[in-house]
Amino acid sequence: MSRPPAPEPLPHPVVDNHCHLDVVRSGDDGLPVEEALAAAAAVGVTRIVQIGCDLPGARWAVEAALRYDALVAGVALHPNEAPRLADLDGAMAEIESLAGAHDKVRAVGETGLDHFRTGEEGRAVQVESFRRHIDLAKRLDKALVIHDRDAHAEVLRVLDDEGAPDRWVMHCFSGDAAFARQCLDRGAYLSFAGTVTFKNAEPLREALALTPRDRVLVETDAPYLTPVPHRGRTNASYLVPLTMRAMAEVRGDDLGELCAAVDANTAVAFGGRWGDTSGFTG
Ligand SMILES: [Zn+2]
Ligand SMILES: [Zn+2]
Repeated sequence: MSRPPAPEPLPHPVVDNHCHLDVVRSGDDGLPVEEALAAAAAVGVTRIVQIGCDLPGARWAVEAALRYDALVAGVALHPNEAPRLADLDGAMAEIESLAGAHDKVRAVGETGLDHFRTGEEGRAVQVESFRRHIDLAKRLDKALVIHDRDAHAEVLRVLDDEGAPDRWVMHCFSGDAAFARQCLDRGAYLSFAGTVTFKNAEPLREALALTPRDRVLVETDAPYLTPVPHRGRTNASYLVPLTMRAMAEVRGDDLGELCAAVDANTAVAFGGRWGDTSGFTG
């Protein structure tokens, strides 16, 4: 399957802070991890946070983070996975041991709420799973990565009730300016994906425009959410420059300065730098 061409490299390295290297879309061959990392690094996306969404995915993420310098891992039971499990207690116990296993596991996530794919019958379990992940992130002092699909108010309600950890990320932020303010007031990092380039995403761009520069992150959520002009095709970290350029334009920021800020923000949000980017020349 042919892939979108590589965009022009970024002037300063950034981290793709939310990626699923282990997920292969049907009809696609998937990109071997080494190739995905090399293609990303060549355009300035020098490091990646690999997110595992179920037990096999979480195990995979930890192994990959230990094998590749450029990767760190996030581990969790995805909000659409939690209601499908026969044994939430047992699964959470394994997530906890994976999360505490190594310094390269930097995040508990993605957790949160999804009212789009999970119906009423699964929501109580989803909330319970979210609460446990919040607690785990706090106990282990990891970043909390939140998935919020059509559940803005409920996500904040649970978070307020439990108390947010020091560092938390609204991944693939999907709200408008008012919701962005509510998240920012509570200390969130807002992570923007390829959706910010979509034609109908004006409210999202308004949210991005008001987000302080020290709270902005960038991600792919690959293989999903491919930025314009390749929307609908398979996403990968090497396409982050398309999203970063659109973000700089929306904000009226200098691209290099915004990249440097995103890079620094990611280090703070995910508990410090990792990998070696000294060879990157831009
Ligand atoms: Zn998600
Ligand atoms: Zn994701």
